[in-house]
Amino acid sequence: MGKKEKCAICSETIELSFKAMEEWKIDGTLCGKCYSKQLHDYYPGEHVRVNKHLD
Ligand SMILES: [Zn+2]
Repeated sequence: MGKKEKCAICSETIELSFKAMEEWKIDGTLCGKCYSKQLHDYYPGEHVRVNKHLD
């Protein structure tokens, strides 16, 4: 633990890592921003929210 990972999409250092869904075909971990974007891209009608604290 404590090792800084980089986002598989934007290459930013990840503060809070998210595991990519298998169907996204992404090898690695994602930052919250990209994870949220992926959710919207793949499941546009479901309104899955991972940043509820922003409401
Ligand atoms: Zn990212």
